[in-house]
Amino acid sequence: MTQLIHGFALEREQQVPELAATARIYRHQKTGGRLLSLISPDENKVFGVAFRTPPADSTGLPHILEHSVLCGSRKYPVKEPFVELIKGSLNTFLNALTFPDKTCYPVASANLQDFYNLVDVYLDAVFFPRLTENTLKQEGWHYDVENAADPLSFKGVVFNEMKGVYSSPDSLLAEYSQRSLYPDTCYGLDSGGDPERIPDLTFEQFMDFHKRLYHPSNAYAFFSGDDDPEKRLAMLDEYFSQFDAPAPGEPASEVAVQPPFAAPRRFVHPYAADGAADGAAEDRDDSGDDADENGDASGEAGAARAMCTVNFGLPDTQSPDLSLALEVLEHVLIGLPSSPLRKALVDSALGEDLTGGGLETDLRQMSFSVGLKGIAATGGNAVAEATADKVEALVLATLRELAETGLHPDDIRAGINSVEFDLRENNTGSYPRGLVVFFEALSTWLYDGDPLAHLPFEGPLARLKARLAKGEKVFEDLIRAHFLNNPHRTQVVLVPDTTLGARREAVEQARLQAVKESLSAPELERLAQETHELRALQEAPDSPEDLAKIPRLTLADLPRENARIPHERVDLPGVPSLCDGGAAAFVHDLPTSGVVYLDLAFDMAGVPDELVPLVPLLGRALLEMGTRRSSFVDLSRAIAMTTGGLWAQTFVSSVRGQGPEAASQRLFLRGKATAENLPSLLDLISEVLLEADFSDSERLGKIILEAKARREQRLIPAGHTLAATRLKARTGAAQAMSEAMGGLTGLTFVRELAGRMETAPEGVSRDLHRLLALVLSRRGLLVNLTADGQTIASALPRIGATVSALPDTVQTPARRAIPNLPKREGLCLPAQVNYVAAGGNVRAFGLEPGAAAAVASKFLRAGYLWERVRVQGGAYGASCAYSRLSGNLVFASYRDPNVSRTLNAYAGVGPYLTALNLDPAELEKSIIGSIGDIDHYMLPDAKGFTALARELTGEDEEYRQASREAVLGASQKDFAAFGEAVNAVMQDGPVVIAGGREGLEKSGLDLSLTKVL
Ligand SMILES: [Zn+2]
Repeated sequence: MTQLIHGFALEREQQVPELAATARIYRHQKTGGRLLSLISPDENKVFGVAFRTPPADSTGLPHILEHSVLCGSRKYPVKEPFVELIKGSLNTFLNALTFPDKTCYPVASANLQDFYNLVDVYLDAVFFPRLTENTLKQEGWHYDVENAADPLSFKGVVFNEMKGVYSSPDSLLAEYSQRSLYPDTCYGLDSGGDPERIPDLTFEQFMDFHKRLYHPSNAYAFFSGDDDPEKRLAMLDEYFSQFDAPAPGEPASEVAVQPPFAAPRRFVHPYAADGAADGAAEDRDDSGDDADENGDASGEAGAARAMCTVNFGLPDTQSPDLSLALEVLEHVLIGLPSSPLRKALVDSALGEDLTGGGLETDLRQMSFSVGLKGIAATGGNAVAEATADKVEALVLATLRELAETGLHPDDIRAGINSVEFDLRENNTGSYPRGLVVFFEALSTWLYDGDPLAHLPFEGPLARLKARLAKGEKVFEDLIRAHFLNNPHRTQVVLVPDTTLGARREAVEQARLQAVKESLSAPELERLAQETHELRALQEAPDSPEDLAKIPRLTLADLPRENARIPHERVDLPGVPSLCDGGAAAFVHDLPTSGVVYLDLAFDMAGVPDELVPLVPLLGRALLEMGTRRSSFVDLSRAIAMTTGGLWAQTFVSSVRGQGPEAASQRLFLRGKATAENLPSLLDLISEVLLEADFSDSERLGKIILEAKARREQRLIPAGHTLAATRLKARTGAAQAMSEAMGGLTGLTFVRELAGRMETAPEGVSRDLHRLLALVLSRRGLLVNLTADGQTIASALPRIGATVSALPDTVQTPARRAIPNLPKREGLCLPAQVNYVAAGGNVRAFGLEPGAAAAVASKFLRAGYLWERVRVQGGAYGASCAYSRLSGNLVFASYRDPNVSRTLNAYAGVGPYLTALNLDPAELEKSIIGSIGDIDHYMLPDAKGFTALARELTGEDEEYRQASREAVLGASQKDFAAFGEAVNAVMQDGPVVIAGGREGLEKSGLDLSLTKVL
């Protein structure tokens, strides 16, 4: 008999050198529960448990359950343990995610005790949640009615969240594309929930789903990091062993395989577009102040556009060699602006920008999806559908030609290098590395395959390279087998429908009306009573004894000192130092696995206001238009063949100790390469900066259309950012610049630019050259270099040579104007939800809350705001952000069904804080959470960049240490001071609300409305 350790039998152990890890695969003897345990030196420890949760309908049951299990459990009987953890933990990741076929609960922390706390709360939550009818009502849906005589409405967190998702045409296109390929499996349904179907969900279905599928026999548990591997087994066994062995044939959660199609299929779906007339005069505030904000671009904003995808069903995920080859092929086809399929689509001018998710490897069967958005739809759906047919024909023709004539060898080299660089760098950004491994493992494990199939990449990579070296036509064959000769293909067209929003609303109202009419007077009374009961329950505080059951760190567990990032300022060989009108380098000696991260930060101070919105486009034009020496195709290939990437980024911030007119303003050129390839990276940087050529107006026009389409796409998913950015534009130079580049002003500018490209493109090229001349100078240039010490030492002379070849222009700083915007603005979007921003600058009132304000705002986000705006108001969330650099204090809600109600909640914050009798335990939690924010986990590249950003904003170590101490010593006094600041800014301060026109018009707030989309 196999030896059991804490109830687990070891099935297999394998080294994974690519992750410097030992992997152990276990099975829990009694229940069949699975565990993948990865032992590695990574201090950012990850735990996750996933369940196979294929939905049987589109009521969003898996998603609603994902929210619901985090609403209190047997051991932790508080309303929202999840929120308590957010408040008082050092977690580096804490979330729950619903996929089309699985639900995942991952946590991560670099602090061992904190990690154990998180694991236990999550295990108790998923296996022993306290699910009641009120949980389903709150998180899923319920009939909300204040008085029996009032009309009914639907409310619920997921109900509202999904209304937001269904307002985004891009989300819909992705959803419909997935469904189109797998109509006979769970992927043909929406696990997130279709707002029209969510109210079909019953409490019995809800409970049954949990009972069947949240069982150890259906669980896939994962650990990774440097914690004690045996303790993992003990912790899991404590939960698993409380369950019986599953009944024969259970859990019966297999994900079905879609039988292949005999012929391609085609689908047309409508999406709700805004039906209001473009820029109609009555929409404007009669002050006329915002006229130049809209300019003549409002007509551009109007015409709603169609989008389409072509989708290919591919084999399952189990073969690592096939997956890797397809990944490289994806890069070859659409990875770069110059990639043949991407270029063919963009050049066709059938639409404005590429869409489709490319290669999808997270589900049982892989798929490939590509298409265009921004397709002209004036003239009706038939026109858009005809264009979609042309898009599909173009995709197929391009693929056919590639298969016949063969791919360009440089495209293949670029594809291989990019994929290989990513695999070796293993840069997971702000995600813990272990989390990415967990998802990678699930992509095979969940379908009864080997969880380690995709983790060792050296073998598949070497085999792929060997096949190519032998002259095998690997990618051409793949294109033929899986694209050209594959009838399992769909076309999905999404067309604008200006009446759909109103029709949906009418259907919902009629449904509610019918329900109301079917109910007797006593039943309606009951419904009103239940609404009140739910609200009372939501408002009743948890008892201090229950709250104390949530395990957490104490202040004594927190490091008193800030972690320091190695950061040293040096002169560049051969370049005058900063004080002599030259440049400086900041170097960060960090272990980067042989990768060099290099940033060049150019000063934007000389750029006049009217050119500021052009800066982000300059960044793209430099890298995506080619140079005097290279076509843009050759340039893109050269970047991808020799580097890990080269990109531009803007940075604008207030500066510590300086007034609202001051701004740190930089255009970054950022690149990464292996140490051997640093010379190539530097050559490319010199080439794009010194030999820029913006004369190809066709190419430039496409970049501008793409930029416009991308910004429009971000509007609804990031409506809170749109509103908050606009609000802050009133407060200072840095904020006005941010808005001019990335906000509504920036969008309007890009729309105008698209118009200028049709009439006078040379003017735009001239502006770009003028802008480049204003930015490109080694005077005041800051170079940022992150690598190990030896690499840094050998890199500096080379970098010095590159920098000394740059022009030495003296710039006169431009004067920054702060825009004069209407006090109360409404930004109209075709969305069924709102994004409510309010606040202002506290310094205008002579107030200056200190670093401890971060603790108060943390407390608000997870407490008062969470309860009022999310739990009671039905919004997805609300934030409160205070910046000590600028003095801005801004509230913003996300996917919010309300307007005034949310503003009232914000206005209540001040009185609430000033009258608060602060519970010491709550204070301590908020302090811990704030320290967790300060100490957030970073990979080496992020550390290097953060160190430079701090340099630019004046946040030196002394200031940061004093801030940390203020956070650690936060008290009720700080909360009261913060409350006073809130009172000040909310007193008649500006308000910006993004959302559906009708709601904004009816808000009674006398908003000055602008049509954004
Ligand atoms: Zn959700």
